[in-house]
Amino acid sequence: AEPGEVLVECREVAKSFGGVRALDGVSLRIRAGELVGLVGPNGSGKTTLVNLLSGALRPTSGSIEVAGRDIVGLAPHRIAHVGVSRTHQIPKPFESMTVRDNVAMAIMFGRSPRPLGPAREEAEACLDVVHLRHLADARPAEINLHERQLLEMARAIATKPKVLLLDEALAGLNPAEIDAAVAVVRRIHATGITIVIVEHLLRVVNQLATRVVVLNQGALLADGDPRTVMNDPDVIRAYLGR
Ligand code: ADP
Repeated sequence: AEPGEVLVECREVAKSFGGVRALDGVSLRIRAGELVGLVGPNGSGKTTLVNLLSGALRPTSGSIEVAGRDIVGLAPHRIAHVGVSRTHQIPKPFESMTVRDNVAMAIMFGRSPRPLGPAREEAEACLDVVHLRHLADARPAEINLHERQLLEMARAIATKPKVLLLDEALAGLNPAEIDAAVAVVRRIHATGITIVIVEHLLRVVNQLATRVVVLNQGALLADGDPRTVMNDPDVIRAYLGR
């Protein structure tokens, strides 16, 4: 994608679970090259939005386009082929496979499928990006939480996404690990992948994001550059005033 090209276009997206309106008419445009911090109090709809963008959920109403294609109703693997990739809060790698082969599998079934041999070579390059190449022969059970989350990112970039959705990818890490993970997110972004990161650590969002989008009770509360958004009285109230 050319820098500045519209990659994600959500129009009036709503999602209800029974009587709960998790998202209530969110319109959002994300351009190639952005690194968007998606924040908001617990229950504000962040994970629901990620699930809608990746096809894990289907909106109750509204439209979602990725790279100009309507993705509503497409299966998650089809949306992956359009160029959306995501990480999960709780990584679930294939425990019986090596770290390398976990990434190779993602490549083999990705946008440009290839046999195991070349996929393994490409997997090493993905592991390089997340600084995990030295653990290529390990099994997931032998690596720690931080490393498992880096593996999750390596698997997510293996499909060569246009947009990478990172859902709480730093949860449970210690400060040194957070710094390391932030550096990895920067490296991924520098390879040309547009990123949406859901993160409750505002310090991290401020460090990383080119733009911050705040959800509150399923609606867009603020959207703009990190400094302006974080000083917005409505945003401060949403976080602290209840
Ligand atoms: P966040 O990620 O910002 O914490 P969520 O998107 O997880 O928020 O949740 C938004 C709202 O939708 C919450 O009220 C939550 O309880 C509700 N919700 C999310 N997923 C489901 C579901 N599968 N079934 C019922 N309610 C849900």
